[in-house]
Amino acid sequence: MLIVTSAVLAMRCPECGKMEFNDFSRFVFPRGKTVNIICSCGALKLTVVTKNRVYYSLRIPCPVCESQHPVEISGSGLWSGDVTRLSCLETDLELGHIGPESKIVEMISKQEQELEDLVNEFGCDGYFHNSDIMYEVLSRLHEIAGRGGLYCQCGNHKIEVDLFPDCLELQCKNCDSVNIIYAETEEDLSVIRQVDTIELARHGFRCLDNLADADKHKKSRHKRSKT
Ligand SMILES: [Zn+2]
Ligand SMILES: [Zn+2]
Ligand SMILES: [Zn+2]
Repeated sequence: MLIVTSAVLAMRCPECGKMEFNDFSRFVFPRGKTVNIICSCGALKLTVVTKNRVYYSLRIPCPVCESQHPVEISGSGLWSGDVTRLSCLETDLELGHIGPESKIVEMISKQEQELEDLVNEFGCDGYFHNSDIMYEVLSRLHEIAGRGGLYCQCGNHKIEVDLFPDCLELQCKNCDSVNIIYAETEEDLSVIRQVDTIELARHGFRCLDNLADADKHKKSRHKRSKT
């Protein structure tokens, strides 16, 4: 029988959004003591306590609900050698994973590969005006969504994405709102890099440009780099 005692927690910080691995070995959690897993920015990522080292009570701060989700998982499940998925209890949005580091690294790189394949699939036909930018914008969107930053005002977090040659169309099927994100130029990329959340207007139509506009004016940074 294989006894697995080491594992990592792979979770984006609900505050700063950084994806970091934290030690999640069995020995980190003494009986009866609450253990806080903290991001390098100081924000709380997860609270774990076990009374009997059989069951482990987790509290996950959820960036979507802005509350904490209690989850109870058995120790044999946590250190089984398989990956445990942590998700929001309301929206089922993925919040993180616990498992052997090698499996988690593999899983994350597979997700990135799928995204790249998707872009390449369209890209080799010359579908996108700029497939590099499209890829970068999609990855950024992925990151925002993974942190619960992509949602509709009507409360829906399951936003559908359609790909067009020069933009992405985000749609809430719940109230038919639409949001367009341009993905063609470096400037488009910098727009999505500046935002942390993308909120679809209920029954409405928006372009991401408009959201970032306020920011742009504030900074009014049109400094030319020396050429
Ligand atoms: Zn953080
Ligand atoms: Zn939640
Ligand atoms: Zn909606």
